[in-house]
Amino acid sequence: MKIAIYPGSFDPISNGHLDIIERAARLFDKLYVVVSINISKSPLFTPEERVEMMKSVTKHLDNVIVEQTNELLIKYAENKNANAIIRGLRNFIDYQSEMTLFSFNRHINKDIETIILFPSSDNLFLSSTSIKELVVFGGEIDDYVPKHLVEKIKERIKAKKL
Ligand code: ADP
Repeated sequence: MKIAIYPGSFDPISNGHLDIIERAARLFDKLYVVVSINISKSPLFTPEERVEMMKSVTKHLDNVIVEQTNELLIKYAENKNANAIIRGLRNFIDYQSEMTLFSFNRHINKDIETIILFPSSDNLFLSSTSIKELVVFGGEIDDYVPKHLVEKIKERIKAKKL
């Protein structure tokens, strides 16, 4: 059985993340979407809230499991018997950090491959940061996040006074 993990902060989720999940779920028998801690970012939603939201947007995908972890990513992947780590790559800024992450993970375990998926063209410019900025400056995010989460995400960004 081919198993992959797709880790990220997903804070908040965007249509770009969802696109990667749907495409990766077609490539693997089982896909773990893993909400992980990013120590360099202050969170908008708690990990538990993010897991709930990720579950709500992936419930149409039978082979996708959403979890949270505080473990080192590669250890989490080993425990799940994963063959691959999925990441998205939008631009040269992502390239630098993804290349570093890949080298680091490969140094620890050479048997787990990193698979990079490029975003569909509509999502090339989408990031969690751009969604926060749009809300702060009064823009609409309806085209960029799953429809049923628009209000929840807007409210939280406004409440946090980012
Ligand atoms: P992190 O905080 O670890 O960067 P993110 O939640 O920002 O995690 O993203 C998780 C993964 O999804 C990363 O590999 C990131 O490059 C990718 N990603 C983020 N936004 C998009 C997008 N619009 N299209 C494709 N991939 C994306």
